[in-house]
Parts: sequence; structure tokens; C-alpha cells
Amino acid sequence: MQPKYHRVFVKLSGQALANDQEGLYDLSMLDEIAKVIGKCVKAGVQVCMMVGGGNIWRGNMGQYMDRTRADHMGMMATIMNALMLEDTLQRNGVPAVAMTAVEMETFAEPFIQRNAVKALEEGKVVIIGGGLGIPYFTTDTAAAVRGAEIEADVILMAKNIDAIYSADPRKVPDAKKFDEITYDKMLEMGLKVIDLSATAFLRDNQLKSYVFALHDPNNIYDIVMGKNIGTEVHN
Ligand code: UDP
Repeated sequence: MQPKYHRVFVKLSGQALANDQEGLYDLSMLDEIAKVIGKCVKAGVQVCMMVGGGNIWRGNMGQYMDRTRADHMGMMATIMNALMLEDTLQRNGVPAVAMTAVEMETFAEPFIQRNAVKALEEGKVVIIGGGLGIPYFTTDTAAAVRGAEIEADVILMAKNIDAIYSADPRKVPDAKKFDEITYDKMLEMGLKVIDLSATAFLRDNQLKSYVFALHDPNNIYDIVMGKNIGTEVHN
């Protein structure tokens, strides 16, 4: 079976790498993610990834701090996670390279769009740390922007919810689950499963995305192969 997409951008939340018992990192979850990403690469799909930092730090955890400094810490958290992901992928035999939005050349290559595309074409998984490298943004928006830069066919937003609903299904039991939805409808309904700034960016740049649950990492492979899982979001 041929994959549906040639080049995908996968955004994971930082929390997806964590587990309450094991602290910062859930090593078996990381291994599972690496194996699924490896399966996508074997199928001929180019994979670029971004991971958030919520398992370590988010800018809004430092309400008492200077906001820019708190966001700098958040970006560093995402870089830690990117290095963890790079290491896990390599340990599982998947060629991978971490690139950072802010220069940190001792630790990882700087993110340069043409170098990222070249690495993808060589069959390496590219993991971008540090989001966009500027404060007041989240990794959802950064994933949308980087996804556009590398010309990804689709942005896969792995969340801790299995789809987009009309309201939070944990609070509103009869919330409607959407198999597909437009960005305009999400903005009109104020749905924030994807950050509003990311939603507007994805709409304005005609990028397709999927919101789905990461608890089964194989969802990534299934979507890449053309299955409709979670919610497809489009213009
Ligand atoms: N961040 C930032 N600029 C970016 C991307 C991220 O300042 O371009 C900071 C911001 O403080 C954010 C934190 O990094 O809260 C971690 O990212 P995010 O909240 O998106 O992580 P997630 O919730 O997906 O784990």
C-alpha cells in the first residue's frame, strides 16, 4: 500500500512524552513513537517533527516572571525534548537530526529551512527544537509555520484528545465529535484544540491538518497511510 502523504509534519505535545509515574519521560512511550515514525520512514514518508515543552515548562507557568524570560525557558524545554526524541529515534535505528530555532551549535544543528529539506530528502527525520525561537508563541503555531516552510502535505497534531468536539467532552457529555471541520468553523466556534493563532495561520496558508490522540502512536502511521482518524481540518 502506498502512503497518502509524501512529507508530513508531526507535532507532539510535551505531555505526550511524560507519564505521571515516571516523571519527565515515559521511555516506553518514546520507544513506541520512535517505532511508528520508523515505520512511516520505511514506507517512504518524509517526517519532520516538533515537540512542545509542557512536561517540563510552559511560559504561562511563570506568571510572576518576565514573560519573555519564561518563554525562553519554555523554548529550552522543547529543545530538551527534541534531543530526547533524536536520541530515542537513533537508538531505534531511525536516522534523525535535531535542529534548533536558536543557535546552540554544540548541541544540535541550527534550523535552516533548506538544510531541513535536504535532510528530509536524505531520509532523515528532522526534529525542530525551540519552536520559532521567539516568545509569545506556542509549538502549535510554530509547527504550522515550520510545516509551511518545509512544504509539508499535512500537519499532524497529536493531542491528548481523540478528535475535535463542539465542547470539551469531559465536561459536556453530549458534545458533538467532528470527523472533519473547516478552520473558519473552528474560529467561529472558538474551538481551541489547536491554538487560535495556529488555526488562523493554517487557514491563511491552505494547510491541511489532523487532530488525533497520541495515546496510540500507531494513529500517526494510519493517517499517513490514508485512514481517517480523529478530525481532518481544512479550508
Ligand atoms: N515557546 C515560545 N516560542 C515558540 C514555541 C514555544 O516561546 O515559538 C515557549 C512557550 O513558553 C511555550 C513553551 O515554549 O509555552 C512550550 O511550548 P508549548 O506550550 O507549545 O508546549 P506543549 O503544550 O505543546 O507541550
